[in-house]
Amino acid sequence: MDSAALRDLLISWANISSGSDNFPGLDRMRLALATAFASLPGATVEHLPLAGTPAQAVRIRVRPTAPLQLLFSGHYDTVYEASHPFQTCTLLDADTLRGPGVADMKGGLVVILAALHAFEKSVAPDATARLGYEVLLTPDEEIGSFGSGALFAAAGASRRFALALVFEPARPNGDLVHSRKGTGNFVATCHGRAAHAASPTRAGRNAIAALAEFLVAAHRVPDELPGVMLNIGNIRGGGPATNVVPDFAEAQLDLRVTRMADRDPLLARLHELAAPINARDGFRLEITGAFNRPPKESGPVEVAALGAYQLAAHELGLAPFKSVHTGGASDGNNLAAAGLPNLDALGPIGDRLHSADEFVRLGSLVDRAHLTARVMAKLATAEVVLPPLP
Ligand SMILES: [Zn+2]
Repeated sequence: MDSAALRDLLISWANISSGSDNFPGLDRMRLALATAFASLPGATVEHLPLAGTPAQAVRIRVRPTAPLQLLFSGHYDTVYEASHPFQTCTLLDADTLRGPGVADMKGGLVVILAALHAFEKSVAPDATARLGYEVLLTPDEEIGSFGSGALFAAAGASRRFALALVFEPARPNGDLVHSRKGTGNFVATCHGRAAHAASPTRAGRNAIAALAEFLVAAHRVPDELPGVMLNIGNIRGGGPATNVVPDFAEAQLDLRVTRMADRDPLLARLHELAAPINARDGFRLEITGAFNRPPKESGPVEVAALGAYQLAAHELGLAPFKSVHTGGASDGNNLAAAGLPNLDALGPIGDRLHSADEFVRLGSLVDRAHLTARVMAKLATAEVVLPPLP
């Protein structure tokens, strides 16, 4: 595997602007990926329309009838819209490339391609014949995978795959991710009663004050409930005239849970905090919204896959790593919800994701590609046998 070639491929992909809403850019990126992945021996490449978006996914299949099937998952959208100033790559030193999506996750897409080529080249044909795979490259992960969700659901429901591998970037210290919090978007809306600010009857009911009371209490909920996160991300209320008691205020909440079982107690606690405000004359505080990505929990398949990765890293002389829980969600959450166990953060090592300082360690492109190729070899030769699907 030629490290300079991987670097140049990554630069060419990162220089294609493909923010989640930039459909012409997403099309260019999809065609570049389709061309690159068509180089895998025996590959079939399909472009899949998605509901609710003009962007399409790409699906590459190799040996789809082999007895053991893996699913490789990656997204090719980035958070950098066409108008964002961060559009090109800069080599900061021989091992550090700064650029849009170099870690999250065009670097991961380079790792997938390099790993698959390495596997095809290094493993004997009788072993490769046992292992087939599908690569699913999607255009909307950064905005919640609403279009791609059906593909993940279908992949899980098919029961074809023993394991999915997700190539989000590794943690800055090299760690993988075995579990992720589930996420939800909620809105707390408070209705009060408008009145003149100086009304002697004190008829007004200040919706901002009541909502503020609720939010201060809600902000403390993560201290009470382990494994739960709550961020008040946005607040608005009142109008241009400050001599009016505002009858409306609302705040947007980002809720995250470690386990499915954390959802109900979290929502129950928020409703409990709203209850005393709702009991007051003239106030109504409502909490609406939904969890969009369920938490990804870790099970026996993930444990076995992690063990294989750690052993492979040791054999290759790579630095040891662990696998951690993280609050950030990814398509690993959607795959897990569809019944497909997966190991995540198998991409390169990088940091400062979603900022104009995003960078990747170039050496980790080669290392992580070797690592996945070696795990594939262990699976193909049955040196590692995964537990059955849950
Ligand atoms: Zn990502």
